[in-house]
Amino acid sequence: MSISFEGMMKIGLLSKSSENYSNSRILEEAQNLGLDIIHIDYTNCDLILNNEKPDILYNGQSLSGLDAVIPRVGIYKSIYGMAVLRHFEAMHVYSLNSSLGIARARDKLRTLQILSKKNLPFPNSAISNDSLNASKLLDKVGGTPVIIKLTEGLQGKGTVLAETKQSAKSIIEAFGLTNTSLILQEFIKESIGTDVRVFILNGKVIGSMIRSSNGEDFRSNLHLGGEAKKVKLTPREREIAVKAAKEFKLNVAGIDILRSDNGSLILEVNSCPGLEGIEKAMDKNIARLILEFVVSEVEKVKSKPSYHKRTHL
Ligand code: ADP
Repeated sequence: MSISFEGMMKIGLLSKSSENYSNSRILEEAQNLGLDIIHIDYTNCDLILNNEKPDILYNGQSLSGLDAVIPRVGIYKSIYGMAVLRHFEAMHVYSLNSSLGIARARDKLRTLQILSKKNLPFPNSAISNDSLNASKLLDKVGGTPVIIKLTEGLQGKGTVLAETKQSAKSIIEAFGLTNTSLILQEFIKESIGTDVRVFILNGKVIGSMIRSSNGEDFRSNLHLGGEAKKVKLTPREREIAVKAAKEFKLNVAGIDILRSDNGSLILEVNSCPGLEGIEKAMDKNIARLILEFVVSEVEKVKSKPSYHKRTHL
């Protein structure tokens, strides 16, 4: 089916800043496609709540005429960012990923619970809200070495590897002071310093790369200096990545996988995967594919007879 870009579809890129690689690429490609795109800093959105016609004001102007939003809500003021996204949904503005999918993926505890419930493979894990209890859970995840994570970690910074029981206890104690809950996780030593990122769009794999730390670090995050190369997935990896995106209800997702001796395991589900590593590793215009998908989804919605009866679009 050919996609028409006539009639200037109006899209909002919902993010704090417009300046990182992913956001700049989305803005650039939207312009190449002749779409009318604006960057919306969600921290400057005011929400109007009533029973008839909810609205969002941005610098005093109503955003009710938008056709779609591409949410890229980061950690800064994320609770407010998510409220803005839910408000767009209440206004029947199409969102690339739903607030439900994003909320599921960004909560590490909820992620593990969903993976477990949906029979998706992941490293053995235990969660505790209390550092005294957490020390007693080491045996439940196979003893040491063990991975200890803060539930609010980001880009690898809240994830540590404890080699011995003694160091695990000290780290748990120190993390306990941060007042967040902890995840203890089986350390997948075979995958040390590497993980596989599978990029899913609309239920299909559109890219996959292997990331490696550039040194001794057990973490492969690109933000910590790791590097990425295109990689061929096994059929099982494709299957679990597609299933994970589906179960989390994400149209766009970055599924992180660790290759263990007992098969590939899902480490994380990202609802807002970065574009830089994957576009470069695949040499592929992923920003354009995402925008084409948004356009075709909005056109589908608009072609339904019920669309014209709506008052909020
Ligand atoms: P963040 O969400 O902050 O990126 P992750 O939980 O994804 O933190 O961990 C960061 C990196 O640490 C991963 O990309 C992976 O390389 C490594 N890592 C995390 N958990 C494990 C594990 N259980 N076994 C082996 N390596 C791991």
